[in-house]
Amino acid sequence: MTGNKPYRVLLYYKYVPIESPEEFADEHRAFCNELGLKGRILIAAEGINGTVSGPVEQTDKYIEAMRNDPRFADMVFKIDEADEHAFKKMKVRARKELVTLRLEDDVNPLEVTGKHLSPKEFFEKMQDEDTIILDARNDYEYDLGHFKGAIKPEIENFRDLPAWVRDNKDKLEGKKILTYCTGGIRCEKFSGWLVKEGFEDVSQLHGGIVTYGKDLEVQGKLWDGQLYVFDERIAVPVNQKEHVIVGRDFFSGEPCERYVNCANPECNKKILCSEENEHKYMRTCSHECRVDPRNRYIFEYGLTEDEVSERLAKIEKAAV
Ligand SMILES: [Zn+2]
Repeated sequence: MTGNKPYRVLLYYKYVPIESPEEFADEHRAFCNELGLKGRILIAAEGINGTVSGPVEQTDKYIEAMRNDPRFADMVFKIDEADEHAFKKMKVRARKELVTLRLEDDVNPLEVTGKHLSPKEFFEKMQDEDTIILDARNDYEYDLGHFKGAIKPEIENFRDLPAWVRDNKDKLEGKKILTYCTGGIRCEKFSGWLVKEGFEDVSQLHGGIVTYGKDLEVQGKLWDGQLYVFDERIAVPVNQKEHVIVGRDFFSGEPCERYVNCANPECNKKILCSEENEHKYMRTCSHECRVDPRNRYIFEYGLTEDEVSERLAKIEKAAV
C-alpha cells in the first residue's frame, strides 16, 4: 500500500451512532480544513461516510486522529495513491441519511444486513449457477464498468432501487443474491432492505469494488470496464488482469470511457462521448438541451448564433 505518489485519496464509512451530527460536522470541518484536506464527508446520526484527498502526511494524520476516537477505532480506510487532490473543496455536511434511500421503514445495518463476503468469496459465488449479481449503483456507474453478467437496475438514483426490486421480483426470487457497490456503504443498507423484504439468501461484497480491485488474490477478475468514482478522477481501474471496455459513446456507440456532463445545467446528464462528439454535439444529450439558452458550451466557446446554427445543421444532416 505504500507508494511514491505525493497524495492519497481515502474512502471510508462507518455505521455508528453519532450524537449531535450538526455539531460534530462543524468540528470535523474545522479539523479537516486545518489539515488541508479536500473532499466530501457526510455525517448523520447513523454514522459517517467520506472521501478525502490530501498529501500523504496529512491523510496519515487524519487516519490517526480518527482511530483515536473510539467510535471510529476500527474504521476501514481504502487508500488510493494520487498525484494531486481529487477534490476542489472540503465539504462536511450533516445529513439525515448517509445514503439516500428515504425508506418509510428505515433499515439499521447494525441490526439487519446481508452476509459480508470477502473478495475471494464473492469471486467464487459469482460463478455459482443459482446466483444472480445485482448492481446496487446508478445506471451511469454501471455503464462505465460492472461485474460480468451483473443485472443493471435502470435507475438514476439509489433511492429508486427498492421500487425497481418490487417491479422486478421475478428476476430475483429463489436466487442467491449478490449485491455490490463502490465502497460497500450502499449495500450495507440495501442488502438489509432485501432481507427485510423477504429475500432469503442475500450477500454483499465487503469493502465494495474498491477493495475487490486491490485484493491480491482476485486482482479485480470478472470486472469489465472501469469504476466510476465521485471525485475528479471519475474513472479508476479495477481489473488488474485485463481491461475490457464496456462503455459506449452515447452518439456513435463506439467503445468509450470518457464522461462529460450535458452542458444544459438543468439537465446535467452524464454522457459517455469522445472529444470529437463532444464538440460536434456541443456537449449536450438532446436537441432540446442543445438549443437551451443556458447551454454552457456555447458560452464557453463563445459561439455566435450563426456558428450554432451551422453545427445544428450538420447534426441534422448526419441524422438523415
Ligand atoms: Zn441534456
